Amino acid sequence: MNVNTYSIGIDIGGTKIAVGLVDRHGDILYKQTTPTPSESRASILNTIKAIVLSYMKMSEKEGFKINGIGIGSAGQIDPNKGVIISGTKNIKDWNQVPIRDVLQKATNLPVWVDNDANTFALAEHRLGKGKDLNHIVCLTLGTGVGGGVVSDGSLIHGTFGGAGELGHMTVNMNGPACNCGSNGCLETYASGTGIAQRMRDQLANMPTDDLPAHIADYKQHLDALTSKEVFQWREEGYEPAVAVIDTAVQALIYGIVSLIHTFNPQAIVLGGGLVAHWPNLAATISKQIKDIGMASLVKPVKIFTSELGRDSGLIGAAMQVWHDVE
Ligand SMILES: [Zn+2]
Repeated sequence: MNVNTYSIGIDIGGTKIAVGLVDRHGDILYKQTTPTPSESRASILNTIKAIVLSYMKMSEKEGFKINGIGIGSAGQIDPNKGVIISGTKNIKDWNQVPIRDVLQKATNLPVWVDNDANTFALAEHRLGKGKDLNHIVCLTLGTGVGGGVVSDGSLIHGTFGGAGELGHMTVNMNGPACNCGSNGCLETYASGTGIAQRMRDQLANMPTDDLPAHIADYKQHLDALTSKEVFQWREEGYEPAVAVIDTAVQALIYGIVSLIHTFNPQAIVLGGGLVAHWPNLAATISKQIKDIGMASLVKPVKIFTSELGRDSGLIGAAMQVWHDVE
């Protein structure tokens, strides 16, 4: 491969789709972001095809090579069959989508597809904090909690690609119901949705008169409450918000110790949109896990915050191509 070769990375999210030309070092030559079309699965596939074909035209005109397409999508993915088994609720009719075949037929390029948390783990392993490590566990803290595990240098996929749903590890069997059907999953405490819901639970039981005015406003509009407000109130020192975030950190600590016992990793990498709100998260976890669990496994583990930035989804998607060509 010469230096003028790029992979097409496609990051499919509930609200936007990003498509970029990415080189082997994770550098982006060009990228385009478009809102996820909500009408139908055909409109999503047509939108993606149109952008990919425009990149192929660009490559002919400018004389660079495209070596394949890597797709990262939310939801359950079968990487062997190249099928999105079930996507997020935000994307209409996004189930049983044979996306690999559709794009291979349209482009004649090889296509890879995987869950977006797995592609994030791949990017961390290849370019980020997990570079030079063979055993890493990655957690993405965003709307939900996603997970990806690299063990002996390879992503763990399980029977049909469903492995690594680390956000649905139960950290409290008497905890709140999770939308997966289980109780007290890590995601019910440490995701954006979970943090907002735990705050709602607290506010619902508090007399309005006891609340500071700007927080009392939210009691009338609990649906409008997001994790952003909870982090802000925590900064202000508002006790119930401090408690909700402390509980999220505790859930992460016990979840991570269980992951260390399960996978014996060298490092844990935390990514996703929430991490920016938690400047000391990695340091706090790193300090507190040392006193929990089996010391020989837990003590050596490094806890990192991802530094791949906002384009990590796109880069991770493209890394599937680079991973397989080398
Ligand atoms: Zn769950």
